[in-house]
Amino acid sequence: MNTTLRISPDRFGSAFFAKLEKISGQNLLACYQCGKCSAGCPMAPHMDVLPNQIIRMAQLGMREQLLAARSIWVCVSCMTCNSRCPKEIRIAEVFEALREMVLRTGSRDDQLDIQKLSPEARGALPPIAMISAMRKLTS
Ligand code: SF4
Ligand code: SF4
Repeated sequence: MNTTLRISPDRFGSAFFAKLEKISGQNLLACYQCGKCSAGCPMAPHMDVLPNQIIRMAQLGMREQLLAARSIWVCVSCMTCNSRCPKEIRIAEVFEALREMVLRTGSRDDQLDIQKLSPEARGALPPIAMISAMRKLTS
């Protein structure tokens, strides 16, 4: 029997939370804020929101703040956070899911086709956005 505690996202009234869990494939409620992900992140000094704070804000359904966070474009997908999490949450996938959500904004089918962007639009994107658009970690 699966004894993992799961609380329906509906109880938070957050479609955003449910979507973030679905895209990232992670159980975000498992996080208990130990901070190990942030302590090992090589890009933390350059982030406005630390990895453990990203997860907590996701639990609270803080959509606008998360999608506006500079940190999601500073993350280099090194996956150090993934290897340090005692709850086996893949934080890098959460970061990528957030980038996906920003990049998909305005896309009719909720998917981003990088080939359909103009050369100018592609040139304006940070490299990590291109990687996320190719869906390296999430599906
Ligand atoms: S994957 Fe991103 S958030 Fe995780 S440790 Fe690396 S830079 Fe930091
Ligand atoms: S390492 Fe895992 S459990 Fe600890 S704060 Fe980060 S996401 Fe949460």
